[in-house]
Formats: sequence, C-alpha cells, structure tokens
Amino acid sequence: MKKSVVVVGYGGQGGWHANHALKSDVVTLKGIYDIKEERNQAARDAGIFVYDSFEAILADKDIDIVVCATPNDAHLDIVVRSLLSGKNVVCEKPVALSLEDFDAMCDAAKQAGKLFTVHQNRRWDVDFLAIKSIIESGAIGETINIESRVHGSRGIPSDWRCHKQYGGGMVLDWGVHLIDQMLQLIPEKITKVYCELNNITTDEVDDGMHLMLTFESGKRATVEVGTYNFIYMPRFYMQCKTGSTLIEDWQKKCKIAKMKAWNEKEVMPVQTAAGITKTMAPRDEITLDTYEIERPVSDVHDFYRNLVKAIDGVEAPIVKQAEVRRVLQVMLACFESHEKNQALIFPEGF
Ligand code: NAD
Repeated sequence: MKKSVVVVGYGGQGGWHANHALKSDVVTLKGIYDIKEERNQAARDAGIFVYDSFEAILADKDIDIVVCATPNDAHLDIVVRSLLSGKNVVCEKPVALSLEDFDAMCDAAKQAGKLFTVHQNRRWDVDFLAIKSIIESGAIGETINIESRVHGSRGIPSDWRCHKQYGGGMVLDWGVHLIDQMLQLIPEKITKVYCELNNITTDEVDDGMHLMLTFESGKRATVEVGTYNFIYMPRFYMQCKTGSTLIEDWQKKCKIAKMKAWNEKEVMPVQTAAGITKTMAPRDEITLDTYEIERPVSDVHDFYRNLVKAIDGVEAPIVKQAEVRRVLQVMLACFESHEKNQALIFPEGF
C-alpha cells in the first residue's frame, strides 16, 4: 500500500513534493499546510486537502511521512514535532542552520523510532552521476582534483533567500548540493577548508562562494557557486592520474581525454604572443584518446522509492544522517574560514 505524505510549506518546493506525491507509484498525497492563506487556497483550488493548522497534522495518526518544505529557519520545529508525533520526516535542504539543531532533529528521530532523512535530490543529477561513474570505473585512474561549479547571472533570488534570518545565501541554497555531491565523489576525511564568499549584489548574505577542500590523501576539490557570471564556466572538471574529464553544462555529455602514453616523440609547439611553447601545447591522438560518454540514466523519484523501502526496513536510506551532518560541518567551516580570512586545518580530519 502507498504511504501517505503531508507537505508542510506549499511554496515552490512544497509544490514539487505535492505534485510528485500525486503521481507517485509509492506514496500518495494526503494534504498540505502553509502559514499563508493564499497558498492554502491555491492547494484547495488544485483539489488538495488543506489542514487547518500544523497541530492538526500532528494530531492525525494516519500520516506516514511529513515533508518539511518551509524556508530554512523554520525546519527545526516542524521536523522535531512531526517526528515526536510519530511521523517519518523528509526535510528539505539545507536541513538546519547549526549542528545543535541538526542533532536535536536526529535525537527526536531516535526517540520516536522514526525515519528522518533530507531531500538531497541532486544526488540524482546526471552530470554528477557521470563523474561518479568515471571515478568508479577507474577509466582515467585515481582522482587528483575535482572542480564543481554552478553559475547564474541574476544575483540571489529576492525572496527569503536574500535574508540572513531565514537562512538565506548561496552556501546554504546551492553550496549544500555541490558539497553533498563532492563528499560522495571523494569519500575521504577533509583536512583543510578554505572559503571566500561573495557579496556583489547584497551585503546581508553571500551571493556566491569559492570553496577549496583538501582531503586526507591529498585529493583536492573546488566548489564554486556564482550568481553574477555572464559567461558559463564548466559544470564539472576533473583531473585524474591518467586523464581529464569535462562537463560543460547540465545539457552536455561528459568529455574524457585519456592518456595512452606519457612520453611523446615529437611535440608541436604553439605560438603565443611572447613566443612558442611546448610545455603548454596540446597533445595529439598518438598519446591521447578523446571521447564522450553517454549521459547516465537517472530518475529523481527514486528518492521516494528508497524512502518507502527504508521506512519498511528493506533498504538503508540513500541520504544518511551522518552524511548530512558532514555537509553541514563543511558549510559552517565555509562561514568561519571566510570570516577569519584563513584556511581551517583539521589535523585529524573529519
Ligand atoms: P518558498 O518561499 O517558495 O516556499 C516556502 C513556503 O513555506 C511558503 O509558502 C511559506 O508561506 C511557507 N511557510 C513558511 N513558514 C512556514 C511554517 N512555519 N509552516 C508552514 N508553512 C510555512 O520556498 P521554497 O523555494 O519552496 O523553499 C522551501 C525549502 O525547500 C527551503 O528549505 C529550500 O532550501 C528548499 N528547496 C529545495 C530544493 C531542492 O532542489 N531540493 C529546491 C528549492 C527549494
């Protein structure tokens, strides 16, 4: 039997969850609740049941899953009270604004014996999955460095995201996705965090970030979010021991350049204004294979399929609390590094 879902916060993302639940093969939408009457009315107009209050949701014993899709500062209370009233909970990202809040959520889940996970839906992005598949295949050897970027040119959205009190800013909005992906791609302890934040269009919150991570083995990662860039930078670039890979943007396939031989008999120099260079000249096909890989097949709705199996105890949840906590630790380290204007060193790693 399908599990029943109630969505708290019927805005952009709450609407996504509600629409998904209406079409899902594993869950069904029981209703929604929003503090704004106009959003409740929009739901009624769409034929969706609207609860009178959040307390009415807590009192309803016939709900399997509460989805929290409110602005970031309003997650804690909804998550903890929903869990303690006996519901399984999915919270939108970024789950919390502090480790204390996140730990309180996990404690509530433990106390209630209920499942609690976070909607890190960009684990199903095909660009990320393409990079992951290349790493796992070993096609171009061990990873040296991964760069992951998203860029817009319209500044930060002018809703709650541009205010600190609601948990606004790009680290929390997009950084959270890119950091989560990166920690999946390099499953090692982090030993160094250095981050610079941008304030180009607003001073209140960051409207962009440039993060550099160093991992235990020396692997490095760059995570960059921009909202004031008028030429796209590549979505992913990865350097490995025997090749490199590039994904120009979400729509493009993944390009691979795989080294066949290190030594070259002859190098054709390139001409630059200052003279010729062989060091910076491109390789030819005698030592390099270049090809594209097909975009992986992915279905973001597998999040809910896994969720239902995890509630039934058949599968482990894909998005685990320990992983979410680590992403939060990295985001908090980003703010600290920027504020101190220095790299944070973690000799033991985390
Ligand atoms: P939004 O402003 O469009 O919607 C938020 C809704 O929550 C509003 O309708 C608001 O009235 C309501 N709300 C606020 N406080 C409430 C409360 N206490 N109880 C009930 N309703 C309340 O915002 P959004 O873009 O939908 O973002 C909501 C959450 O979803 C955020 O945490 C955001 O980071 C996340 N999000 C995730 C993704 C993703 O891809 N995973 C994408 C967008 C947003």
